[in-house]
Amino acid sequence: MNPLLVLHAALDDARLTFHSRAALDAHQNRLAHDHLRWVAAHSPAVAARFRAAGLPLARWRELPPTTKPQMLASFDTLNTAGVTLAQALATARQAEQTRDFTPRLATRRGPVTVGLSTGTSGTQGVFLVGEAERARWAGTVLRALLPGGWRGLTRRHRVAFFLRADSPLYRSVGSRRLEFRFFDLLRPVPELARELAAFRPTLVVGPPAVLRAVQAAGAQVQVQRVVSVAEVLEPDDAAPLRAWGPVVQVYQATEGLLGLPCEHGELHLTEAHVHFDLEEVGGGLVRPVITDLRRRVQPFVRHRLDDLLRLHPEPCPCGRAARRVAAIAGRQDDALQLPGPGGQTVTVWPDFLRGALAALPGLRDYRAEQTGAAALTLALDPWTPELAAQARAGVDAALRRSGADPARVTLSTAPLPPPLPGTKRRRVHRRWRPHPEETP
Ligand SMILES: [Zn+2]
Repeated sequence: MNPLLVLHAALDDARLTFHSRAALDAHQNRLAHDHLRWVAAHSPAVAARFRAAGLPLARWRELPPTTKPQMLASFDTLNTAGVTLAQALATARQAEQTRDFTPRLATRRGPVTVGLSTGTSGTQGVFLVGEAERARWAGTVLRALLPGGWRGLTRRHRVAFFLRADSPLYRSVGSRRLEFRFFDLLRPVPELARELAAFRPTLVVGPPAVLRAVQAAGAQVQVQRVVSVAEVLEPDDAAPLRAWGPVVQVYQATEGLLGLPCEHGELHLTEAHVHFDLEEVGGGLVRPVITDLRRRVQPFVRHRLDDLLRLHPEPCPCGRAARRVAAIAGRQDDALQLPGPGGQTVTVWPDFLRGALAALPGLRDYRAEQTGAAALTLALDPWTPELAAQARAGVDAALRRSGADPARVTLSTAPLPPPLPGTKRRRVHRRWRPHPEETP
C-alpha cells in the first residue's frame, strides 16, 4: 500500500475533528447525500431496500434496519465488487488454514481484502475492503493510536500485534519508521512472552485476555500505549495491563471501525465516518444501527449491530462532539433470557452479571453461561466452596435487580477450564436458544 495515501488519510482525519454537534451533523449529511446516491446506483440490494420501503434516498434514516443474517443472505448483490459469499468465504478460510494472510481478490473495483470476523459462536461475518478504504482505515487508526497524533507517524515505532489471524489491514501500514510484528495467538504463551520482551515494542495491540496471559507469563515491557481490540475491555483486565503503559480501547467489528480513543484515553464513536442511530433497549443501554458514510465495496446502510453500548452522559474533556462510549456492555446475543417472578421471560444484560462477579475478592476469572431456559452455569477460577457461595449470592442479587426470579433459575458452579487457544473470550454468554432457527 502507498504510505502517502495513508498519511493523506491521517491528515484528512485531523481535519475531521468536530467540536459542535451541528457541524458534525452537517458533515454527515454532506457525506450521506453523495455516498447513498453512489451506493444505490451500484448495489442492487441497497436499491431494493429503498424500493421495498417506498422511500426516496433523502429519507434514508427511516429505512428499516437490516441485521447480519440478512446482510449475509443478500451479500452477492449487496457488495459492489461482484464477489459472491461463496468466493469470499473460500478465500478467507484458505487464508486462515495456510496462515498466509494476504487474502485478496481481484475484482472490478480493484483488489479487495477479504476477512472473517472472529468468534467461536454467533453468526460469522465476512468483510470486504477496497484499497482506498484500507488506506483511510489505516490512517484513521494510526492517527488515533500513535502518541502525538499524526505527527506520531514521523517518529519511530515498534508495534506488537497479538491477533488470531494476521490482519492485512494492520500490516498494510508498515514502513521503515513503523515496524509491525505479528504474534500468532496459536503459539504457546511463554514463547510469545519472551518474544514480546525481546521486541521492545512502543505500542502493544491485542485482545485483553491474551495480553493478560502474556503478562502473567512474565513479559515486562514499557509501552506508550496498550491498545485493547477484539473483545470487551473489562476493568479487571485494564488495571493490571497499566503496568505496561496507558490502556486504551478500539471498538472494531466486522461492520467496521466504530470507536477510537481520544488523547484522554476515552472511547469516541467514529462519527466523522459512520452515522449511528441508537435504539434504546432498556437498562440504560443502546443498540447501534450504523450507516457507514464511506465504504463502497461493502455498504452498510441502516445496519443493526449485535453490540450493546452504554454512553457516557457527560461531554469529554477533549471537546470532541462525537459521542463517548462508557462501556461496550456486550452483545445482544449474549443477553440472558431468564424467568421472572410470574414465569415471564426477562432479559438480563451481561453487564449486570459482570458487575456482580468482578466485585468478588479472590476471584481471578469466570464464565457465566445460560445453558437452558432456566439454567445458569458459573465456571470459577479458582473454585472454592466459599467463592462459589459468594458468586451464587452475587448472581442471585444481580438477577433480582434485573427483574428475574433467582428461585426459578437453577444455578450450578464448576472450576473454570483452561481457555482454548485462539478463541475469543466471552465471560457472559447465552448458549441456550429459545428457537432452534436462532443459530448460536
Ligand atoms: Zn475525548
